[in-house]
Amino acid sequence: MSGWEAVIGIETHVELSTHSKMFCSCAVDVAGPPNSACCPVCLALPGALPVPNEKAIEGIIKIGLALECTINESSLFYRKNYFYPDLPKNYQISQYTFPVCEGGKLDIDVDGTTMTVGITRVHMEEDTGKSTHIGGGGGRIHDADHTLLDFNRAGVPLVEIVTEPDIRSAAEARAYGAEIQRIVFALGVSDAKLEAGSMRFDVNVSVRPVGDEVLGTRTETKNVNSLRAVQRAIEYEIDRQINVLETGGKVIQETRHWNEDTGVTISMRIKEESEDYRYFQDPDLLPLETSAEWREEIRRGLPELPAARRARFIDAGTDAVTAGLLVDDSDLSTLFEDAVASGASGRAVGIWLTGEVVAYSRRTGTPIPDTSLTAPHLGELTGMVDEGKLSFSAAKEVLIAVMDGEGTPGDVAEAKDLFQVSDSGAIESAVESVLAENPDAVNKIRSGETKPLGFLVGQVMRQMGGRADPKVVHSLLRKRTGA
Ligand code: ADP
Ligand code: MG
Ligand code: ZN
Repeated sequence: MSGWEAVIGIETHVELSTHSKMFCSCAVDVAGPPNSACCPVCLALPGALPVPNEKAIEGIIKIGLALECTINESSLFYRKNYFYPDLPKNYQISQYTFPVCEGGKLDIDVDGTTMTVGITRVHMEEDTGKSTHIGGGGGRIHDADHTLLDFNRAGVPLVEIVTEPDIRSAAEARAYGAEIQRIVFALGVSDAKLEAGSMRFDVNVSVRPVGDEVLGTRTETKNVNSLRAVQRAIEYEIDRQINVLETGGKVIQETRHWNEDTGVTISMRIKEESEDYRYFQDPDLLPLETSAEWREEIRRGLPELPAARRARFIDAGTDAVTAGLLVDDSDLSTLFEDAVASGASGRAVGIWLTGEVVAYSRRTGTPIPDTSLTAPHLGELTGMVDEGKLSFSAAKEVLIAVMDGEGTPGDVAEAKDLFQVSDSGAIESAVESVLAENPDAVNKIRSGETKPLGFLVGQVMRQMGGRADPKVVHSLLRKRTGA
C-alpha cells in the first residue's frame, strides 16, 4: 500500500418494499411461484403503458431527505437500452439528468472518527427479472443447456444511491454500507436485506500515487451482497491494482465479479460507457413533479434516524460503542428507552443490555422479547446495584433468574438470599477478625503500603460470603488501619 492511495465510490441498489411494482399494479411478490406476478406492462407487451407508483416516489424522497439531498421539483425518466433475457423491454426505465434527488451527504463513524461521504444522486429505476441457468456447471450461463426466466422481480421499484469518490479505504466503505443499510431500514422503505438481495452494492475502486490529484482508472465490482464482502472485495481489488501498476501494467476499466469462495474478483466484461446505453427520455412518461407541500409533508413524517438516536442514547449516559449496539437492535433500543424514561441510569442499563442480556439470549437461543425481562425489571435491578443492595455478581445471577421468569429482581434476590448485608455490626465483626488474623498486612498498611488493603477487603468479602458492600468494607478497613 505504501506510496498508493485508494479511491472508492459506491453505488447501492435498494428494492423498495411497496405493495405494487414501479409502473404497474402487479404485486411485489418475488418469492411467489415463478411468473405469478406479471402483467402486460412488466412483461413489456406491445402497447402497454407505465404509470409511476406514488408510494415508491415517496420512498425515494424519504431516502433523499435522510441523505440531505436536494429533491428536484421536476425529474425525468429515461430509457437505458441494453439487451438481457430477463429485461423484457430491452431497456430499463431509469433516470439520467434530473434524478429525483441530488447532492447530499452522509456522515459516518469509522473507528471513532467522523467522515463525510458526498452523495452524488439518488435515482429511481426498476429491477430486472431473474434468470436461472440449467444444466452444465454450477448454474453459470456459459455452460447452461437452457435458462428459466422469472419476471416476478421485473419492475420492482429500485432506488440507486451513488456516492462521490470520497471513500479511501475498505473499512470506510464497510462503515458507509452499514450506515446506509441502517438508514434505509429505519425509514421503513425496504427490508434492506443484503443476504436476500433487496440491498446490494457495486464498488468502484481505483488507486493513485499518494499526492496525485487525478483519479486512476477504476474497476466496478458488481452485486456485492454482504458488508464483509464489500470490505474483502475492495481490499483484494486495491492489492490487485497496485500490483498491476507496480509491475508496469495498466488497470483496465472493467466490470468485475466478486467470488466469495475464492476471495478474488474476476473480470466480467469491459465497462460500458453511458453512450453505450443510448439513453433517451422515455416518451411514455411525463416529467415527475413533486410539489413543495408533498416534499414538506414527507419530511415531517420522517422517523428518527439512527445517528440522531445514537446521539440521544449517548446523552442518556451510554458510550458511543454501546449506543451503536443498542440502536442496531430494536428490542434492545425499546428496553433501553423505556427503562431510561422511567428514571433508570442510561449508563448502567446500556451495559446490562449489551452485556448480560445479549449473552443470555445467545446462550439460550431465546429472542429477548421471549424472555421475561421488562424495562421496569432493568430499572429495579440497576437501582439495587446503585444503592449497594446487590453486588455486581449477585445482580448478574438475579438478572438471569429474572430472564428465566422466576420473578422481579427484588423477589429473586430475596428468594436466593442475595441481598448484601447492610447490618454494619456483622461487617464490623468480620473486619475485626480479618485484622486479627493478618497482623503483617496491618503493619504494612500502617507503614504506608496500600496493596495489602485490597487483600484485606478480599478476605472480609470472603468471610461475608460475598454479600457485603465492598465500598463499606473498604472504608471500615481504612478507618481501622489509618490508611
Ligand atoms: P456508472 O453507471 O458508469 O457506474 P455512476 O456515475 O453511476 O457511473 O457511478 C460511478 C461511481 O464510481 C460513483 O460512485 C463514483 O464516485 C465512482 N467513481 C468514479 N470515478 C472513480 C474513480 N476513478 N475511482 C473510484 N471511484 C470512481
Ligand atoms: Mg455503475
Ligand atoms: Zn405488472
